[in-house]
Amino acid sequence: MSALPDLSDGRHVGMTTTIPVEVVLAAGLVPVDLNNLFITADDPGALVRQAELAGYPRTCCGWIRGLYSTALAVGIKRVVAVTQGDCSQTHAMMETWQSVGIETIPFAYPYEGDVESLRTQIRRLCAALGTTWQAAEEVRVKLVPVRRLLAQLDTMTWQEHKITGAENHLWQVQSSDFNGDPARFCTELEAFLDTAAARAPQPPALRLGYAGVPPIITDLYDFLEGRGARVVFNEFQRQFTMADSLEVDLLSQYLAYTYPYSVFGRLEDINHHIALRSLDGLIHYVQSFCFRQIQDTLIKRSVGIPVLTLEGDAPGPLDARSRLRVEAFLESLVARKRRAGPQGTAAGIPRQGDCGVGAS
Ligand code: SF4
Repeated sequence: MSALPDLSDGRHVGMTTTIPVEVVLAAGLVPVDLNNLFITADDPGALVRQAELAGYPRTCCGWIRGLYSTALAVGIKRVVAVTQGDCSQTHAMMETWQSVGIETIPFAYPYEGDVESLRTQIRRLCAALGTTWQAAEEVRVKLVPVRRLLAQLDTMTWQEHKITGAENHLWQVQSSDFNGDPARFCTELEAFLDTAAARAPQPPALRLGYAGVPPIITDLYDFLEGRGARVVFNEFQRQFTMADSLEVDLLSQYLAYTYPYSVFGRLEDINHHIALRSLDGLIHYVQSFCFRQIQDTLIKRSVGIPVLTLEGDAPGPLDARSRLRVEAFLESLVARKRRAGPQGTAAGIPRQGDCGVGAS
C-alpha cells in the first residue's frame, strides 16, 4: 500500500491496461499502469467511492471506477486507453476523462489479431507520443533481460517452489509498466531472485492455476497459501511479461500476447500450462459487471481439471461466502487427488479431518 504520487508533470503517461510499453519508453516518457497504482493505493475503496460520487454507477466494474479516480487523484495529463481488446467500459471512461481535461490516446488491439491492423495501431501510438518504430524496437531489445528475469521468477515458482503465488502475481503484474523505470525494476527483481534462490523449496500440497483478470480481492493468494494451496500459474499476469515472445520483433510480441484477442488463444495457453505445470485445479476469477464473465462457461467446458469461478467486486479481502467456497473447492481437490491413487497421496496432502483445508 502506498500514498498516491503527484504525476502531473506531463512526463507520465497513464495506461488502462498493457500496451506496447516500449513505445512510451522510446518517447522518453514514463509509463504508469493505472491499475497497479489504484490497487496498491492506501485506500483503493475510497477511490471507487469517489467515482460513484462523480456519477459512475454501482453497476460499473470496480476496476473502471478505481481507474477513473486514480487518474484524477495523481493529476496525470494523458492516458493511452485501450479501446478494443480490453474493456468496452473504457470508452465511457475516456469520455469522462476528456471532460475534465485529460488527453486520451486510443489504442485498439485488432480482435482477430490482424497483423496489418496491429502495425497501424503501433505506428499511430508512436506518432501520438513523438517517437519512431525503430526507437521502440531498440527499447524492446533492451527489455529482453528483465523479461528473462521474470520468466526465471515464474520457473522458480512452479518448478523450484521458492516463490509464492502472491509474489509471482505481484512481480509479473508490474511488468506492464516496470513501475515506470525498467532499470530500477530490474535491479530490484535481481535482488529479490537472489533472496528467493537461498530459500528452502516448499512444494505446495495443491497446485493451482489462476485465470482471468488480476483480482481486486487483496488476500486471495495468502488465503490459499495458508491452506496448503499455491497458485503456480497466473494466466494474464504471465502474459503481461511477454514470456512467450522474447526472441521476436515488436509486432510479433504483441501478436503472441493472448489477453486482447479471442478467448480460444487463451484456452490453448491455459491448457498448455495445466499439463506442463501439473495443475490440480483452476480458479477463474471474474469481476462483477465484466463482460469476461460470459467466457466462464467456455473455460469450464474446455479445461480438464476442476474450475472454481470466483467473483469480486470492490477492493478488499475475501468475503465470508467466498472463503467458504474456496475452502470447499480445496477440500474437493484434496479428495480428488487422494482418489487418483499413489500420486494423489504424495507428501504434503493432509488426510481428511486434519488437513487444515477448511480451517477458518
Ligand atoms: S475487469 Fe472486465 S469490466 Fe473491469 S476493466 Fe477489466 S475488462 Fe473491463
